[in-house]
Amino acid sequence: MKIHTSHAKAAEEFVKDEERTHWHDETLWHVREKRDLAAHKLPEWEILRDNASRIKDYVLSHLDELLIQFEKKALANGVEVLWARDGKEHNEHVLRILQENNIQHIVKSKSILTEECGLNHFLEDKGYDVVDTDLGERIIQFVKQPPSHIVMPAIHLKKQDIGNIFHQHIGTKEGADDPKYLAEAARNHLRDKFIKADAAITGVNFGIAETGGFVVCTNEGNADMGTHLADIHIACMGIEKLIPRAADLGVFLRLLARSATGQSITTYSSHFHRPMPGRKMYIILVDNKRTEQLGREDFRNSLKCIRCGACMNTCPIYRRSGGYSYQSTVPGPIGSILSPGLDLNKHSSLPFASTLCGSCTNVCPVKINIHEQLYKWRQVIAKQGPPDRTKKMAMKIAGATLSKPSLYDFFGSMARKALMVTPDSLVYSSLNVWGKQRDLPDPPKESFKAWYKKNRLKK
Ligand code: SF4
Repeated sequence: MKIHTSHAKAAEEFVKDEERTHWHDETLWHVREKRDLAAHKLPEWEILRDNASRIKDYVLSHLDELLIQFEKKALANGVEVLWARDGKEHNEHVLRILQENNIQHIVKSKSILTEECGLNHFLEDKGYDVVDTDLGERIIQFVKQPPSHIVMPAIHLKKQDIGNIFHQHIGTKEGADDPKYLAEAARNHLRDKFIKADAAITGVNFGIAETGGFVVCTNEGNADMGTHLADIHIACMGIEKLIPRAADLGVFLRLLARSATGQSITTYSSHFHRPMPGRKMYIILVDNKRTEQLGREDFRNSLKCIRCGACMNTCPIYRRSGGYSYQSTVPGPIGSILSPGLDLNKHSSLPFASTLCGSCTNVCPVKINIHEQLYKWRQVIAKQGPPDRTKKMAMKIAGATLSKPSLYDFFGSMARKALMVTPDSLVYSSLNVWGKQRDLPDPPKESFKAWYKKNRLKK
């Protein structure tokens, strides 16, 4: 069995830079605070969350019917609908569309699904140049990095980093890091790509079964720019992104932006129904193990996720360990539920990357019981996951010691004496993983039991 890098090990790289770790923590907490302000302004916030949760419950229990309804309506609208079992099939559909339509230039707006399917690498290997048009995505595309957050893909980079990247790739002034100047330079750089593009790829935030239409939300208008200028629009949609009726959109659009960034509404919520005359529109419906997750009773409602990122912004582990430590397309608390379903062996450390404080569950706009599902994955992993021999041995010794008071007293007294004389270089050696980030308190002279007997029982 292949040994994979654990979350804790992968986080070492990020936490090495203390200053950046604090900055990342504070930046995301600021987004969480903005979300709180926006949510508290709506007296009906909890009703909206309840409604969203119930609508998504309905979707998950009627997914088969709703997908067929969506397909029928979309076909009637003149959209070509394709189904993909997994990422490979999805990528092959995209390639076939590009080849059939003699496409040379492609622009793409933010789509976590295409990241999940590895579309950019696949197309680049076939000789295509795919230009990501979301500003954050374009920044990380220049340095060949994946997104570190599902809403703010370059949140791990400071404006100085971005200034350097733009200087190298689009020729901005050396050392310039004024966000307005950099955004203007990016706009000019991307405009040329939009004008040349003959195909635009987008994700889908909500597919509407009732109408066969779909909605794409962006703050930069890049999805609209791409799809209005190019002749071909390819929309890539996870099968769980459905909602039953157009009227349900009001619930989700009000929750999405407030939860994601604290805005009242996303700047552009663009509705697509049919191709413009003389143009083509495709929708690829992707499963990629979503139906397997649907079949796992304890984890199925993780598919309600609308990818707002709020659980990441509030998570004390995500904020302090960065998105890359999760080694998965969707990081943070919800990613730690979804990723083990994709590859249990590779992602078995993720459900343990949580304090189980429940903050993620509290902010989730669709009321997913995230921390409870993380706890459930731990139980599954203890039974079916890769064996962690060190932890199992430690638990056995701890279990034996804690079940015998005399043994507990003996080891406690030995440990106190040993800690008083052991040099720090030994206590905090590489064998003590726990001590890497923490200091032990000074050992007390006596145990609590002894202190209690002396100070309380004699009275
Ligand atoms: S699990 Fe909830 S909070 Fe996290 S990204 Fe999904 S919808 Fe947002």
